[in-house]
Amino acid sequence: MNTPTTRRKGAALEAVDLVKRFGEGETAVTAVAGVNIGFSPGEFVAVMGPSGSGKSTLMNLLAGLDTPTSGRVMVEGKDLAGLDDRRLTRLRRERIGFVFQAFNLMPTLTAEQNILLPLKLSGRTPDRAFFDEIVGSLRIQDRLAHRPSEMSGGQQQRVAVARALLTKPAVVFADEPTGALDVSTSHELLGRLREASTRLGQTIVMVTHDPVAATYADRVLLLSDGALHGTIERPTTNEVLAAMARAEG
Ligand code: ADP
Ligand code: MG
Repeated sequence: MNTPTTRRKGAALEAVDLVKRFGEGETAVTAVAGVNIGFSPGEFVAVMGPSGSGKSTLMNLLAGLDTPTSGRVMVEGKDLAGLDDRRLTRLRRERIGFVFQAFNLMPTLTAEQNILLPLKLSGRTPDRAFFDEIVGSLRIQDRLAHRPSEMSGGQQQRVAVARALLTKPAVVFADEPTGALDVSTSHELLGRLREASTRLGQTIVMVTHDPVAATYADRVLLLSDGALHGTIERPTTNEVLAAMARAEG
């Protein structure tokens, strides 16, 4: 395990002295406590840490979904704090994909309509071959006409992943994307993310509790109490298990 490394040249995504506090006074919680980190284009990074260690908060800050108490986030060199609402919305829509823990699908739309929604909102034409490839590799081609309420949690999760990938964003964030999946579907989804990073040069930032899922990543970041406590390069299951035991011990 190395000491946390941070800034990277030509980074797809970068955080500098990032802090997020919720509340005030005695009840204040510091969810992110001064994180410095850089992600290269095409890098696949897993974020691990005990429950409450700040993983989701960090992802929300990096994706521009929440604003830091102090510090900066840069996406492809652009400081998010320097963007007005309209530009921030456009950057999120075009350069960032997000798979939420709770999927966040539109209940009245079919799977296909959900997947196509971000492109539609930005007035872009879907690449039909790429659409077919994504839904095929996630094995949801026979669910496209269904609404979220007619799908299992695992199917909804894969629809959310397809939606995040179809716009070909520079950075894809996924908060426990395999949480609702069985082993084989989880393997396919992780392979899909791996391919997005290797073949399409997309940066993937994935929160996971699963040591096997983490081995798909190039690097694991270990978070505890809102701070980076280490990184594992080219992780193996045993290294990840040992780090998890230390973090929770
Ligand atoms: P993780 O995803 O690692 O489980 P979170 O980022 O969700 O952790 O939470 C980190 C800490 O910040 C926790 O103590 C949590 O209770 C707190 N927290 C997260 N979101 C909020 C919020 N909106 N308001 C107040 N406290 C929050
Ligand atoms: Mg979380």
